[in-house]
Amino acid sequence: MGDVKREVARAINLMSDNDLRVTPEREAVLEVLAENIGAHPSAEDIYLATMERHPGIGLATVYRTLDALERVGIVSKLELGASGSRYELNTDVGGHFHHHLICIGCGRITEFNQDLLEHLEKEIEDSTGFQITDHSLRFYGYCAKCREAAKGGETSRS
Ligand SMILES: [Zn+2]
Ligand SMILES: [Zn+2]
Ligand SMILES: [Zn+2]
Repeated sequence: MGDVKREVARAINLMSDNDLRVTPEREAVLEVLAENIGAHPSAEDIYLATMERHPGIGLATVYRTLDALERVGIVSKLELGASGSRYELNTDVGGHFHHHLICIGCGRITEFNQDLLEHLEKEIEDSTGFQITDHSLRFYGYCAKCREAAKGGETSRS
């Protein structure tokens, strides 16, 4: 997929800009992230997929790579409490980032692909002179499936 190649190339440029060494292992991690945009894989998921193209890679290397990429903003880490952390590549597509709906019932992450913050952003920029280039917003709650399941439980118990 052309998109994957383009995202990997863009991330590698950002790595060099930030003086991060580009190794074949790190490149393999980037490829896996670029192939899984929207899937929010865990570090273990990334490790398993990276091993397929780089059998020698260790889980510690994957963690260190993800940390390094997160520090310079190439990757976002979503903390999910008990169900661990998920990762995603920050892409250029669509400008500002999407929002995440995180279900505290089943751990499912849904993306909400609208910004809706333009008005707020303008107000912040006007009143503080701060130029907003990105933001990250997480909504916690219960997904439609979990709500449906909870409703079913109620009726069968009564
Ligand atoms: Zn996402
Ligand atoms: Zn925005
Ligand atoms: Zn759920």
